Amino acid sequence: MASAVFVGMRFIARQLRRFRYVAGLAAFACVVGVWPAAVSRNSQMPAPVPGPVATTNKGDFLSAERREELRVLDANGGVYQDAQLQGLVADIVERLAASSDRPDLRYRVVILNSPAVNAFSLPSGRLYVTRGLIALANDASELAAVLSHEIGHVISRHALLQAPGGHVDPFGGFGARAFAGSNFALVGFSRTQEVEADNIGARMSARAGYDPYGTVRLLNAVSRNAQLRAPAADEAPSSHPATADRINIAQSNARRYTVPGVAERDAAVMLANVDGLVYGDDPNEGVVRGRQFLHAGLGFRFAVPQGYSLTRSGDALLGLRGGGGEMLLLEPAAIPREQNLRDYLASGWMENLDPRSIAEASLHGLPAATASAEGSQWSFRILVVRFDKGAMRLIFAAKPGTRDVDRAFRELADTFRPMTAAEIAEAKPLRLRVVTVQPGDSPAKLARRMAAVDRPLERFLVLNGLSAGQTLKPGDKVKLITQDGHVRPAVK
Ligand SMILES: [Zn+2]
Repeated sequence: MASAVFVGMRFIARQLRRFRYVAGLAAFACVVGVWPAAVSRNSQMPAPVPGPVATTNKGDFLSAERREELRVLDANGGVYQDAQLQGLVADIVERLAASSDRPDLRYRVVILNSPAVNAFSLPSGRLYVTRGLIALANDASELAAVLSHEIGHVISRHALLQAPGGHVDPFGGFGARAFAGSNFALVGFSRTQEVEADNIGARMSARAGYDPYGTVRLLNAVSRNAQLRAPAADEAPSSHPATADRINIAQSNARRYTVPGVAERDAAVMLANVDGLVYGDDPNEGVVRGRQFLHAGLGFRFAVPQGYSLTRSGDALLGLRGGGGEMLLLEPAAIPREQNLRDYLASGWMENLDPRSIAEASLHGLPAATASAEGSQWSFRILVVRFDKGAMRLIFAAKPGTRDVDRAFRELADTFRPMTAAEIAEAKPLRLRVVTVQPGDSPAKLARRMAAVDRPLERFLVLNGLSAGQTLKPGDKVKLITQDGHVRPAVK
């Protein structure tokens, strides 16, 4: 997409953030690539997550960390349920930890159900890796590269060093540094800390018997993948060193331990475990199909008029109309069951909302309410819609004078409707399918089986760590992206 659109999307995000109501995630976000994941704005939390929290003897800190964990899950699609893949990731972490300088520390790793390419760590030893990142890995050493980097942050207590005056408070004012002027409280590590985590990670990977060149390969994949991606609006400024710089560091780190092509890569086990992995947005969390947004989890659909570009960003949907005179943000709203929608609109989360404008509505049977707010440069229309299992809010912004704002808003609101049972059943996620290369297969031929995605050939090459023009050998295993509902065969 053109860079003008990208700039436009960033602008939207900034504008909309000014009307945000609450501080968001305070995770010690550590982004493996140059593209930090989007951060959710919803701080009200769903039900607690099962499973013990990593050890710490500071009672207060523990509960803050616990809340932090819930926020990370909330902002990143929750836990990706796949016991077999989870087992592989946990095994890698265990093997890395045993080879680290602190084999006494314990870790718990969580796979996040997010298509974003990202990884995080919390000082308690909780590690997170997204399924979007796992999809890019072609062998266990590439995954080990990410996990060892995160372990490096934990061992070095980087997150704790971020606290002003050494005061441990994950909800304190850490965010100011990384997100000056925004409501976000996401913490970025310093460049020095990132380089240190890379160094520690490379040593750990090499000692554990993984190929330390896995970092080089994965960083390349992350970088190439970012170029394929449609721009999202919530791209945060990153403290991570620029990719080229980081790849150079990874090269020289790896050279300290081995030469390329010698160490263990465990490609077969990795590919067997990502077979069937959900790829891209999960329809249960909301997925863009053309001008439609389908949310099978809440059971609704919504459409934008021609001329809009839609981008998923975390659990939010951002829309920009060509020319930039209109934009929208659709995101989950945590509205208690007992609160009516009028009261929710009047509760003060949106600045400048005119209480006299609040009105109830019904959208194809869905209970809803609307309101308006005026900013200095934009007119805002707000819609909240309630479903059986939750609620969404739509913030529509238009520059006054561009179009009839109320009419444009009504037309947009009118596209909300419940999905039928058949539509919900139809809304299957894309999945990775690992296939064996046959004689006569070429990247171009195999990529033709990936009709469900844009730029299939480029995506095929990136996904499989191949360069343009590279040939395949019969018997090689490669990943495809399919919409055939493929599920990994049971492991014998
Ligand atoms: Zn990092």
